[in-house]
Amino acid sequence: MIETYQQALLDWYRRCGRSLPWRQTRDPYRIWLSEIMLQQTGVQAVLGYYSRFLERFPTLQVLAEASIDDVIAQWAGLGYYSRARNLHAAARQVRERVAMGGCFPSDLDDLMALPGVGRSTAGAIRSIAFDRKGVILDGNVRRVLCRLFALQQPPRSREAEKQLWAWAESLTPEGAAHDYAQAIMDLGALICTPRQPQCDRCPVGQCCRARQLGLEQQLPLKTPRKAVPLRYEVALVIESPAGLMVRQRPLTGMLGGLWEFPCRPSEQVQDEEHEVAALQQELACPAGPLRLLGQVRHVYSHFQVIVSVYHLRIESFFELASAEKRRWIPRSEVAGWPLHGSHGKILPLLDVM
Ligand code: SF4
Repeated sequence: MIETYQQALLDWYRRCGRSLPWRQTRDPYRIWLSEIMLQQTGVQAVLGYYSRFLERFPTLQVLAEASIDDVIAQWAGLGYYSRARNLHAAARQVRERVAMGGCFPSDLDDLMALPGVGRSTAGAIRSIAFDRKGVILDGNVRRVLCRLFALQQPPRSREAEKQLWAWAESLTPEGAAHDYAQAIMDLGALICTPRQPQCDRCPVGQCCRARQLGLEQQLPLKTPRKAVPLRYEVALVIESPAGLMVRQRPLTGMLGGLWEFPCRPSEQVQDEEHEVAALQQELACPAGPLRLLGQVRHVYSHFQVIVSVYHLRIESFFELASAEKRRWIPRSEVAGWPLHGSHGKILPLLDVM
């Protein structure tokens, strides 16, 4: 049965698999980059970023030598910025390895020792770049396996996770690693989709337990969602003859290395004016006409934030003496600046888009 499944899937992939830029190469750097970009991001969103990133950093050596600011700037808009920081750190690790006579790692343990490379990503790089058996359990594969085996529990539980890895291992062939990895990803992306799986066109439908039981629409079972907390923030867009003030977030932590307008958390909407005054004091910023531009809302993975945006016009430029990295940038450049998600949404309020 397993061999029938593997053969049917591979035959289908060789006829119908997607043609994607990272499939035109066996360069481990380019394949690794695609796998990192595809974590938490769909193919369509990744395509443009992938080609632009490679234009700027065509080799691992070039990426390793770049500054983290440059890497973050290229990543801006793709989200989950720890991926960019890990990519940069990992490129430097691999460069050291190469300098000592080594090469890009292909063993699972060595791949998993790179920042940002987990078990499934390591399996994908090993299979696709090196054509050696590597087991994958990304979102697409997880959904396919839940249906093939009619798993009747939420797939993120510890017990289910263990079972899914065991199934993924048992279905992965010893040979044809390169094609199999992409075949099962394509099956999940094109046929066994989250909603309305196309079972009539499925190459492995004859092996599918969910289809036999008529459960393909019900599986995988949903994990109960936790309520997403709501936070408030005030942001101050300070405009001087030198331009708009932006500052860079610390390199470590959430949204590390990205830029934003000066801001502070605000407990409640009623606290806003107090928080704006505190922000002005913190920045040692002169007084000037202040007005509320509006509010923006942004949803992150574990909270959502409502940002009240104020504009402060000051007539004289003031020095930005601070440990923080702050800059004045011309209005005409702000749309291209690597602002993080919620502050990127402030731009339409400034009429600079
Ligand atoms: S038969 Fe349907 S549910 Fe089963 S793997 Fe194929 S598309 Fe998915």
